Amino acid sequence: MSVKPRLPPWWLDEAGPQAAAHELEGDTIADVCIVGGGYTGLWTALALKERDPSVRVVLVEAETCGAGPSGRNGGFLHGYWAGLADLLALLGRERAVQLARTAERIVPAVRTFCESRGEDVWLRESGMLMVSAARAQDDVVDCAVAAAAEVGAAEQAVLLDANGVADRIRSPVFRRGVYFADGATVQPARLVHALRRAAVDAGVELYEHTPALRIRAGSVATPRGSVRAPEIVVAVNAAATGWRPVSRHVTNFGSYVVLTEPVPHLLEEIGWTGGEAVLDGRMFLHYFRTTADGRVLMGSGSGPIGFRGRVDGRFTGDDATAARAEHGLRRLLPGLANARIERAWGGPIDVSADHLPFFGTVKGKRIHYGVGYSGHGVGPTWLGGQILASLVLRRDDEWTALPLASRKVASLPPEPLKHLGGALVRSAILACERADEEDRRAPLPARVGAALPRLFGMEIGTR
Ligand SMILES: Cc1cc2nc3c(=O)[nH]c(=O)nc-3n(C[C@H](O)[C@H](O)[C@H](O)COP(=O)(O)OP(=O)(O)OC[C@H]3O[C@@H](n4cnc5c(N)ncnc54)[C@H](O)[C@@H]3O)c2cc1C
Repeated sequence: MSVKPRLPPWWLDEAGPQAAAHELEGDTIADVCIVGGGYTGLWTALALKERDPSVRVVLVEAETCGAGPSGRNGGFLHGYWAGLADLLALLGRERAVQLARTAERIVPAVRTFCESRGEDVWLRESGMLMVSAARAQDDVVDCAVAAAAEVGAAEQAVLLDANGVADRIRSPVFRRGVYFADGATVQPARLVHALRRAAVDAGVELYEHTPALRIRAGSVATPRGSVRAPEIVVAVNAAATGWRPVSRHVTNFGSYVVLTEPVPHLLEEIGWTGGEAVLDGRMFLHYFRTTADGRVLMGSGSGPIGFRGRVDGRFTGDDATAARAEHGLRRLLPGLANARIERAWGGPIDVSADHLPFFGTVKGKRIHYGVGYSGHGVGPTWLGGQILASLVLRRDDEWTALPLASRKVASLPPEPLKHLGGALVRSAILACERADEEDRRAPLPARVGAALPRLFGMEIGTR
């Protein structure tokens, strides 16, 4: 491994400093108190203000807005066409298409937001490419293409043969691919800073370095004060994993990235100048993209599983996962063999039992939540903001009708089984995926371990 993972992420450095808002001192009141200043909390605040400018919104953030994954992710901005094959199995045709069609509005919404505010978040609308980088991944590509064709939306998932992939990015290990027009990249920290500025301009009262210590119906307690509000929104992502109302449905895994020095000449050499966001066909996928200054970010979603919802050092200091991201870079893009790694960092991803986020209201209380993005939240948090605003305003509308807010979410086993079972399945799947890449058969125990979720009736998030 060239560089040990550490915070802050390069994105936050590039976005530049931002004076922190005051900490909350004393007691205050509001119509809505939002806990968490990542994309979910900020999009929710903006949606509320847009629908009713008179609503008094207080947002409390434990650190600073963007300190969590919203300021350190890969910047893949997309909806749900790329996940359609899984959605069909989970939701059926009508609801899967409803979700994918509604989520097509995400990229235009981000574009409109940026244009209307004159914000440059490095939005690059170049689509997303999923490549097969091993024989065993061919099927994933084919299923994505078949799923879109099955629902009469073949144009959303276009099959590329090896030459078609090479027209966009050349690598000796890419066998075929599928191109999704519904995809873009952003500089994630610039986006979260832009949302923060918009929220403040819209009149949202923001308090940073203000963790919610206790959330009860009607009040949020912080270290030096409290917010009394009839409506509360919990938008804390991975930190919600240990929170009782959702803890049975979600767990945390680590995701890590490495970032190279600027290498625009090498990008020219491998023909990757179109700005496509790329991922491979693994379950613990590699995701890679370029930046405005010609760097390559390579991520690996194969980090450790959490325990009892704790967001601890395993999500920021796991050398092994950062090393897997670097290994992925060298294997998938050998043309970048000499590109120096400058930075590495990681963060938690909140993985739900069916790998889709879910939104709801705690029974009998006006406490609303959204969690479970499963590593795909940059775009869907915009949907989350619309849904949470509708829940707060008691509206039954197109947003609350989405499966993200209306389906029954599967449960995971209780702790410590959740951790132990998840860790076992994870290492089995990692062993299988390593074997796939080396074109050999995985050992029997690994194959059995990887098949366990399916044996227990879980169809999503399995190989
Ligand atoms: C390395 C990495 C790469 C990723 N890449 C992608 C990608 O390319 N594309 C994609 O779609 N998704 C990606 N994701 C996932 C994506 O970043 C998240 O789904 C998304 O940022 C979730 O936004 P959020 O606002 O819900 O959560 P967060 O960004 O985690 O925001 C939650 C906020 O709540 C605050 N908070 C926590 N507890 C409290 C408390 N008690 N009181 C007050 N505040 C609190 C935190 O400080 C944090 O700022 C990636 C994630 C990681 C870690």
